[in-house]
Amino acid sequence: MSIPVNPEFKNMQFLLAAPNRAALPPPDCAEVAFAGRSNAGKSSALNAICERRNLARTSKTPGRTQAINFFQHGNSRLADLPGYGFARVPAGMKAAWQVLIEHYLTKRECLRGVILVMDARRPLTDFDRQLLAWGTTCELTFHLLLTKADKLSRNQQHNTLRMVRKQAAPHTAQMFSAIRTIGLEEARAQIAAWLGLQA
Ligand code: GDP
Repeated sequence: MSIPVNPEFKNMQFLLAAPNRAALPPPDCAEVAFAGRSNAGKSSALNAICERRNLARTSKTPGRTQAINFFQHGNSRLADLPGYGFARVPAGMKAAWQVLIEHYLTKRECLRGVILVMDARRPLTDFDRQLLAWGTTCELTFHLLLTKADKLSRNQQHNTLRMVRKQAAPHTAQMFSAIRTIGLEEARAQIAAWLGLQA
């Protein structure tokens, strides 16, 4: 039997896209951010968690990927950070991305935690490691979502999760699939706990 989705997730609405810090919404809601490499499966994960087909766009347009997209329901907000490692983005835009993300991740007092989405077949890329190491020194809390788990055997899932948990401690990690709906409840429970919602 599947547990009903918390309405806070299902009723999330697109709030705004912030291309720079001046456009950020006021920090008046509990926020959870989604970060990850382009193509890791971040948008699909966000849509699956909210049980919505098109909340976060899965299509790649460099312009859109440079903004932080906010979704809100009640006093809960999700922030979809631009995917990093997007090859076609010019160097100047990468620098702007870094400035915005660094500002957001270090100065956002209402940020409760970061869901770091990684392809379970290629977890902990150099950039993932840098973000984790840097974020840890800034006292950010991460939960690692190893998505596309459907592409791994049970045994591979088990071994990968064990390796990632060991390397990413004290941060937490789980297997996930947006297609086979693996790990949905676990991910929702983590986000709900950060947002102060009843699971
Ligand atoms: P984003 O760039 O991180 O937002 O990635 P997307 O959500 O757009 O997904 C990138 C690609 O991975 C798309 O082709 C998706 O269909 C695919 N994908 C996303 N999640 C899963 C998953 O859980 N399992 C599988 N097999 N493919 C996935």
